Amino acid sequence: MSTQTIGAWQRAALARLAPVIGPAEAARDLRLILMRATGLSAAHLGVGSGEVLTPTAQAQAEAMLAARLTHQPLAQILGEWAFYGRSFHVSQDTLVPRPDTETLIELALAQPFSRMVDLGTGSGAIAVTLLAERADARGLASDISQAALDMAARNAQRHGVAGRLDLQCADWWAGIAGRFDLIVSNPPYVSAADYAGLAPEITQWEPRAALTPGGDGLSAYRQILGGVAPFLLAEGRCLVEIGADQGRAVAGLFTAAGLVDVAVHADINGKDRVVSGRRAP
Ligand code: GLN
Repeated sequence: MSTQTIGAWQRAALARLAPVIGPAEAARDLRLILMRATGLSAAHLGVGSGEVLTPTAQAQAEAMLAARLTHQPLAQILGEWAFYGRSFHVSQDTLVPRPDTETLIELALAQPFSRMVDLGTGSGAIAVTLLAERADARGLASDISQAALDMAARNAQRHGVAGRLDLQCADWWAGIAGRFDLIVSNPPYVSAADYAGLAPEITQWEPRAALTPGGDGLSAYRQILGGVAPFLLAEGRCLVEIGADQGRAVAGLFTAAGLVDVAVHADINGKDRVVSGRRAP
């Protein structure tokens, strides 16, 4: 491996990666790859592009570039990803936390709660964030995947909430006990037809079961809302993330479950992203 500067490596790498994932995303990902490989900050990388890339750093950057050329998500390559201002461990076992889901967090935090449950927690990003933001709350996070629960446990540990978060292997409500004043979920909601059209980063590298329940994409909501009533404390709230075209259908399931104040909320891009409701007092 010949010695080269950071800038020279970056230009050569961009020429390889841009045709595969597009120039803007390639430039961003290469910056993050170089930051990881060199240990330099974004600002230092910018001014330090004339510095020599050490052989160790170059080998690391090459390995990460090779992975990204296969469409592996950068979050999985780096092994962690930011969500609501915190860094979460990620792997192929769970969905990469998405900025869309921060809408659910903001809505959940807009009102008090002390006992929450997150159904289908995956990496634990939602449950861990909510408990980290509310030091007096406790919660339960469930998932049907034990590998996901292991990841959620690591993230709870990382952010100091493990003592307040119980983890349970469960298929939606089956085996769950207790009553909650906040029920949240980002369930699989992509329809079978839409799933086929998703990016290879998603279909080849993220767990299919976390993204699509098959069919019309609504079956997880039918299970969650169909069973929600006994688990909600009086005036307790339920919030679920949805796909942009599912607001009306999911709001209908909330109403059918007897919830009131049912509302559809848009994300920062103006797309419908969350449905909320609460149990009547
Ligand atoms: N927003 C995700 C995507 O389209 C889907 C998340 C989910 O199904 N819960 O990639």
